[in-house]
Amino acid sequence: MDLRTGMVWMVRGTGVALALALAACATPAPVSARLAENTQAQVSATAASAADAKFGQFIRDFRATAIAAGIRPDIYDRSMAGIRRNASVERANTSQPEFVKPVWSYLDSAVSDDRVSMGLQMEATYPGMLSNLETRYGVSKDILVAIWGMESNYGQQMGGYNMFEALATLAYDGPRQDFARRELLAALKMEQEEGLTPSQMTSSWAGAFGHTQFEPSSFASHAVDGDGDGKRDLWHSPADALASSAVLLSNAGWTKGAPCYAEVSLPPGFAYELADGDTAKTVSDWKALGVRRTNGTNFPANAGNGAIYLPAGARGPAFMAFDNFRTVLKYNNAASYALAVCYLAHRLRGGAPIMASWPRDEQPLTSDQRTQFQTDLQTLGYDIGTIDGVLGRKTRNVLRQYQKAHGLPADGFPTVEMLGRLNADVKSR
Ligand code: CA
Repeated sequence: MDLRTGMVWMVRGTGVALALALAACATPAPVSARLAENTQAQVSATAASAADAKFGQFIRDFRATAIAAGIRPDIYDRSMAGIRRNASVERANTSQPEFVKPVWSYLDSAVSDDRVSMGLQMEATYPGMLSNLETRYGVSKDILVAIWGMESNYGQQMGGYNMFEALATLAYDGPRQDFARRELLAALKMEQEEGLTPSQMTSSWAGAFGHTQFEPSSFASHAVDGDGDGKRDLWHSPADALASSAVLLSNAGWTKGAPCYAEVSLPPGFAYELADGDTAKTVSDWKALGVRRTNGTNFPANAGNGAIYLPAGARGPAFMAFDNFRTVLKYNNAASYALAVCYLAHRLRGGAPIMASWPRDEQPLTSDQRTQFQTDLQTLGYDIGTIDGVLGRKTRNVLRQYQKAHGLPADGFPTVEMLGRLNADVKSR
């Protein structure tokens, strides 16, 4: 269900903040400047109306695609009536954040005390529904409630966009066209088959909707009627939404009763290149390498294989992510998201906060610094792929190679200090 694999940046939730640049004019501009502005404004207006005309053409052209996919013409026409390119959807679709929020700041808000206590309130409000879901689908109520909290703050933030306008805007132009065209067809199908009306169908800017922010295509594959009223209504029925999430996780391979993760401590001299979040070993193999559970207890017997995940590099907490952690990634393919869900579930069960401390003194890299990071590695002869300012898996694995070659802990975690070192290496060539 992922749109973009990132540390923290996610499109499925509704909590995506848009930085709106507001132009403030304090003093009147001179006449010549105003004339230039007017001309500029006219050019922009012409460009905008040409784009609007092309958008209108796209909507007319897509009609045939929809009908070929089994959508009734009247369903298509009423869904597309009056929709326009949505400027805030376009901004969200193309914006590159100046700073990527550090994982500790993300967890501070994603798993705040308020979110924990409201989750406990939800468990107290819906005990029968949640225990039925546990019995029926084998997914723990804490995980389901945690997903509910993460996705919509327990139904409080489900997204207020017109789903068709949001998806048509993404389908028309930009980096998510294929995804959005598929989702737009799924949304039309959902409307047709469920007997919905377009005005009921609100979503996030990326088309995710309801209490657990399903995408329309996930609705088709996994949604169920959790409260038995004969309808699958993820907007109004928490039982339907949470049952559908349980089905999704169950279909993705959730193991009943098995843990998601454990906080671990790594021994001195640990080979950090093993802690790439992908290298899976049995718990006893990790123990042989000196990895211990931070709280001093044994690992659960049914833990299965684990991979070591260092969300903030060697200076921060370490986690062993088990198979169920990877199942949560099927919901949203960002490791920080899976950690937040699993950590929130752990707190709902009465678990203690993360024990190790975060390197809160680390300054996040700016957009320019992230690009420089990749440029430096490329200059130093590493295959970095596309330089895009996104320090994802590829960049981190390359950084591990660099760190290993220079006798540094190979945690693949980009810092300002590491950038300084790369800059110095480039200069001394
Ligand atoms: Ca229902």
